[in-house]
Amino acid sequence: MNIIHFMSMAQNRAARFHGVGKPMTLEDLPMAGGEGALVRVEAAGLCGTDLHIAVEGTMTTAFLPITLGHEIAGVVEEGAGEFRPGDRVCVYPHVPCFSCEYCRSDREALCRASRIFGVQRDGGFARYIRLPDSCLFRLPDVVPFEVGAALTDAVSTAYHAVRRRAEVRAGESVAVFGCGALGTFAIKILARLAPSAILGVDVQPSALERAKRAGATAAVNARDTEAAKEVRRLTGGGADVAFEFIGSAKTVKEAVRSVRPGGRVVVVGIGSEPVELTSLRVFVGNEVTLMGSMGLSRQDLRDVIEWAGEGRLSLEGDIEVRPLAEINEVLREAAGGERKAAKFVLKP
Ligand SMILES: [Zn+2]
Ligand SMILES: [Zn+2]
Repeated sequence: MNIIHFMSMAQNRAARFHGVGKPMTLEDLPMAGGEGALVRVEAAGLCGTDLHIAVEGTMTTAFLPITLGHEIAGVVEEGAGEFRPGDRVCVYPHVPCFSCEYCRSDREALCRASRIFGVQRDGGFARYIRLPDSCLFRLPDVVPFEVGAALTDAVSTAYHAVRRRAEVRAGESVAVFGCGALGTFAIKILARLAPSAILGVDVQPSALERAKRAGATAAVNARDTEAAKEVRRLTGGGADVAFEFIGSAKTVKEAVRSVRPGGRVVVVGIGSEPVELTSLRVFVGNEVTLMGSMGLSRQDLRDVIEWAGEGRLSLEGDIEVRPLAEINEVLREAAGGERKAAKFVLKP
C-alpha cells in the first residue's frame, strides 16, 4: 500500500465540541485534503480560550460541531513550502492575512481577517491537522512536544506582554497579578531580565507556590491582604510595572493602584465586566500608562522557541500531559482552578 493511498483511507480521530455543557466526543472524521501541510499532532495545549468556549460559554465558535485547540505541536506528515515529512514543528495559533498593515508590522494578532484554530477553523484536539505552512515553525530536537505546544500561545503571549508591550528593563520592579499558566510563564521570562523584584499575586496557595518556583522574589496572597497596598509596601512606593493576567475588574483596579508614579500597567486577561480604575487625579497626576496586550506575533513565537532551544526557558514541572481521550475530565479539572501544574497538554 503506498503512502498516498493509505492517507486517503486514513481517518482523523478528533475531539468534537457540539455546544456548551455537552461532553466532547471522540469521532473519526475523513482526513482533510487540500492545500498546505498535514501535521500529525503530538501535543495540544488546553487554554483559557477553550474553557471560555466549552465550559463558560462566554466565547462562541464560527461553526458547530468544531474541533477545539489552538496550541499545537507535532510532526509534518505531508510537507509544504520548506517543510518536509518528519520535521518537528509547532504552530502559530491562527492564520492571519499576511498583507494588512498589522501583518506587515509584526502585529498579526490585530489582523481583522485572522482565523484562530479551534475558534474560526478546526483546531488541534485531533490526530491530524492540515494548515498553511506559513503557520509552521521548526521545533528544536531538545524541546519536547508538550513544551512546544505551550510555547505557541501561553508562553509567547506572556513574552509579548513582557517584552513588546511593557518592555521591562533590568532593575525594574514588577508585580504579576494572576499566577496561572500565563502569569507563571511571565515570571519565568521576567526572571531572565534581571528585575529588582518580581511579586506574584494570587488567591490560590498552589499558584503562589508555583510563582515562587518560577522565580518570584515574593508572593502576595490577595485573599489575606490588600494586594495593591502590599505591593506598594514591598517595592517601597509601587512597582514599575504591573501585569494583569486574570481579566477581572477588581484585579485590573488593584494593578493600577499598585504601580509607582510613572508606572505601567499591562492588561492581558480578558473579561466582560466594565472596569472603574481610580480617580483621574491619581491616574493623570501619576502619569500611569495603561495598555492592553493581545496574543503574540510570529516573531514572539520565533523568540520563545529560540529561548527554549537554548535552555534559557525551562517549563519542567509546569505541564501535565494527559491523553486526548480524557478531554472532558481535563476540562472539569482545569475549570476547578486548584492544580499543581500550570498547564494541561493533551496527547492524541
Ligand atoms: Zn491558548
Ligand atoms: Zn492581516
